[in-house]
Amino acid sequence: MSDLDPVPPLPKTVDARQPSAARAYDYFLGGSHNFAADREFADQVLAIAPSIPAVTRLNRSFLRRAVVYCLEQGIRQFLDLGSGIPTVGNTHQVAEDAGVPARVVYVDNEPVAYHHAQHVLGGSETTTIIQADMRDLSVVLGHPDTSRLLDFSQPVGLLAVGVLLYLEDPQPAELIRAYRQHLAPGSLVAVSTLTDEHASPELRSEMEMLRGAYEAAGEPVYPRDHAEILPWFDGLDLVEPGLVTLPEWHTRDPKELDDVARPLGYGAVARVP
Ligand code: SAM
Repeated sequence: MSDLDPVPPLPKTVDARQPSAARAYDYFLGGSHNFAADREFADQVLAIAPSIPAVTRLNRSFLRRAVVYCLEQGIRQFLDLGSGIPTVGNTHQVAEDAGVPARVVYVDNEPVAYHHAQHVLGGSETTTIIQADMRDLSVVLGHPDTSRLLDFSQPVGLLAVGVLLYLEDPQPAELIRAYRQHLAPGSLVAVSTLTDEHASPELRSEMEMLRGAYEAAGEPVYPRDHAEILPWFDGLDLVEPGLVTLPEWHTRDPKELDDVARPLGYGAVARVP
């Protein structure tokens, strides 16, 4: 299915008048899986934090490079936490573009993201989405689709890209530690998250207003410094160049290094020893 397919009717339990961060993110990426309320919320965010679409693009670009790296390392199965609506270059598409067969289990707790994802994925036998809170390992790992598609005796690519920013401390470190217990040696863990550590005063004030908008919408976000994120990888071997701003990680497009939004995201990939 293409990203231009019409959005399917929503389940009756979902209120399309309520904006969703997942669909606003899709809007920032130029996707079509969003509604008027999402676009209104996204436009409010844009008015106060115009760098946001650039951060989302840098984040998706990092996701692509991290997935390509995993594929190059021989990884053929992915558990993608907080996947969002799987359009506009998500994990299974990166593998498809690379011509490498891969199995992907997406996890998202947002009902509309789940609903749209099912539509986008159609009847794929190798890619699926589970609606679950990624913090609930018994649900995620115990799900029949996870057992069907992922073999945890072999290396897995665990992706927590653009999602740990929604968790308060110490949850991100705990989450990575908990999943790590289930990962075979050679598995790779890719993480990206929001920061304002080296932001200009202008960008920093954008971030503060952004935090206020997300908090008011009931979805608080937590930008973090390098020193706060690094311990998330304790017990794992960071792949070179370590935890760096998103465009610095295995740079493919040097123009991204000059992007105004570069100071707003950190990313890293680490190997399970
Ligand atoms: N990973 C994708 C990327 O980097 O392009 C999408 C990131 S999007 C900014 C974050 C997604 O995480 C949203 O779709 C949201 O619903 C989901 N999310 C947030 N908290 C979650 C949780 N506790 N469990 C599962 N999904 C979560």
